[in-house]
Amino acid sequence: MNKKTVRDLRDEEVRGKRALVRCDFNVPLEGARITDDSRIKASLPTIEHLAGRGARVVLLSHLGRPKGKPDAKYSLQPVGIRLEELRGKPVQFVESTDTDEAIKATHSLKDGEVLLLENTRFLGGEEENDPRLSRALAELGDFYVNDAFGAAHRAHSSTAGVAEYLKPAVAGLLLEKELEYLGKALADPKRPFVAILGGAKISGKIDVIEQLLPKVDALLIGGAMACTFFRAMGLETGKSLVEEDRVDMAKDILDRAGTTLILPHDAIVAPAIDRPESAHAVTRAAIPPGEGMFDIGPKTAESYSRAVATAKTVIWNGPMGVSETPAFAGGTQAIARAMAAATDKGAITIVGGGDSAAAVAEAGLSERMSHVSTGGGASLEFLEGKVLPGVAALEDRAE
Ligand code: ADP
Ligand code: MG
Repeated sequence: MNKKTVRDLRDEEVRGKRALVRCDFNVPLEGARITDDSRIKASLPTIEHLAGRGARVVLLSHLGRPKGKPDAKYSLQPVGIRLEELRGKPVQFVESTDTDEAIKATHSLKDGEVLLLENTRFLGGEEENDPRLSRALAELGDFYVNDAFGAAHRAHSSTAGVAEYLKPAVAGLLLEKELEYLGKALADPKRPFVAILGGAKISGKIDVIEQLLPKVDALLIGGAMACTFFRAMGLETGKSLVEEDRVDMAKDILDRAGTTLILPHDAIVAPAIDRPESAHAVTRAAIPPGEGMFDIGPKTAESYSRAVATAKTVIWNGPMGVSETPAFAGGTQAIARAMAAATDKGAITIVGGGDSAAAVAEAGLSERMSHVSTGGGASLEFLEGKVLPGVAALEDRAE
């Protein structure tokens, strides 16, 4: 990674200084209850690194989509409470973001103290990357740290614009870790390098397929996107989710991919997603016209697992089936188990994508992956080879 990180800052740049840290605290909520706090946990290393070096830590984040004005149901207050529990140390909270009150609170902090400000998306201008807001946010710190990998694909005031007005502007430890895992896998993977792509739509992942095809030793396809390829091959797809307008593109990819692109040999089919009790396995050539494919079949799960077992680098994005439903979760679970076993044998295993990460967590296997990305959209854009604005805004490291 060629960007400066918090570890590159000298002690005199940190101690007694206000560190304005953009985190990704965009956690799922039920009312005021946080149903998954993994993003808060993932931000702890950077917060404690800075607090431990005597910085006065000021935290920013967005939460949900409150459309540029305050909306109590997206307050970060519950995040502050949870963060305090996780740290076992106080976290102050101010109910505004770029106000005089907030600026005053940043100046009242003592070395090592932590303050959380209110949701950046309560502010008009945040999502427009308005320079006026970026300049106002810059008043909240003496240097800037971006640790919000999950928001790094957005050019917003708090993720990108502010870095123009507040220097040093460096990466946090989570952002660094995400870029190291994903970046190393793409630039210099240990081989064999196997990628597994699934999920609902081929349309959202075309660019990822194009990026990965020339780099990987095998690209294993699952999820509904397999059905669009089946249609391109002239197979019956019944009631499966097929993107008709992408069939030609799928044909073109098949023509070019050779033996690198691997499709399922069998499928779990049922008359409908809500008829899991009728689920059964068929070969891919025998999908009944009245049924749809909702998971890869057991033979495919086995052969994909074998491919994962021999790999030295594995990247996985997108479930192999409708993994929210147990009858269609077998393929996804098999991949998760195979990756966990591969990690044990020394492979680098990386999971990107919100639903894939949720499936791995559900299987209790998150800790057994080398890296589970905290950013679904951001990891996808990174794998597409795009520059992430939140990363581009940071200072380069002098070689
Ligand atoms: P991620 O969040 O990991 O990137 P996606 O959002 O691309 O994954 O895809 C996840 C969704 O794809 C899930 O809601 C899952 O139900 C759906 N899905 C996977 N396979 C199928 C299929 N065969 N038919 C219909 N939906 C599918
Ligand atoms: Mg998703």
